[in-house]
Amino acid sequence: MTLTHDLARDVAAVTAQGRAPLAILDVDLTLVDNAPRSRAIFADWIASLRGHWEGFEAAIQKAPTMPIVFSAEANLRSLGVTDEALVREGLAYWWRAFFTARYAMLDTPIPGSIEAALALRAAGVTLVYLTARPATLADATIARFRELGLPVCVPGAVLVTKDDPAEPDRAFKERALAWIASLGRPILMVDNEPGHVNAMRAAFPDARAVLIETRHSPGAPPLVDGVDRAPRLDHLVIAASAAT
Ligand SMILES: [Mg+2]
Repeated sequence: MTLTHDLARDVAAVTAQGRAPLAILDVDLTLVDNAPRSRAIFADWIASLRGHWEGFEAAIQKAPTMPIVFSAEANLRSLGVTDEALVREGLAYWWRAFFTARYAMLDTPIPGSIEAALALRAAGVTLVYLTARPATLADATIARFRELGLPVCVPGAVLVTKDDPAEPDRAFKERALAWIASLGRPILMVDNEPGHVNAMRAAFPDARAVLIETRHSPGAPPLVDGVDRAPRLDHLVIAASAAT
C-alpha cells in the first residue's frame, strides 16, 4: 500500500532531517468503534433488571443491535428507560463498565483504520496512539490491538494512555502532545473530537490535522482554520491507485 503523494513527501522530508516522522492517532472512534462495548454493557445491565422493570422484555430484545449515539443517556432513553432514578442507575453502571478490559475487548475496527495504520508504519512513520483511555486499560487496549492486527509495543508503534484519572482529557492530550514533540516530527494527526484536533493543530501547525467523521461529544467546538475532515483514515493515507 502506497502513501498519498503528500504524506510520502512529508515522510521523506522529515527523514532527511534525521527525525522520525510521526502519525498521532486517537483510538476510540478514530481507529476502533466502541459501540459494541456500549451495547454489551446496556444488555448486561438490562439483564439485571429482569422481573424488576416493566420495560425489560422490549429493551433486552433491542439492546444487542441498538443504534449507538455519543450520549450514554440518550442511548439509555432509546431503550425505554425514562424513570430518572433508573436512568441514573443505568448511567452509573455504564460508567463503571466502560473502561474495563472485559468490555473493551469487544471494540471493532473503524473501516480502513487498520489498513491505514499498517501503510503508515510500512512507510517508516512512527505510530503514536494517543488516547484518553485510563492507563488501567492499557493492557486490554494492547491485547485488542494485537487481535485486530494493529501494531503496538514494537519499534515504531507507541501507546500513550492517561495516567492521571482526574485530569481532563483535553489537558492530558495537550500535555502528552508536548512530550510527543520529543519523539520526532508529526506529519499527520487525527482524532474524532473537534476540540482535540484543534489542540493538535495548535501544538503542531505544520502537520496535517484531520477530524475523522464518526461521532463526537455534544457541544464540541467548531474546527479551527487549517483542520481538515475525512470520513475514513485509509482515504486520507493510502494513494487511491493503491487502495484496496
Ligand atoms: Mg476518540
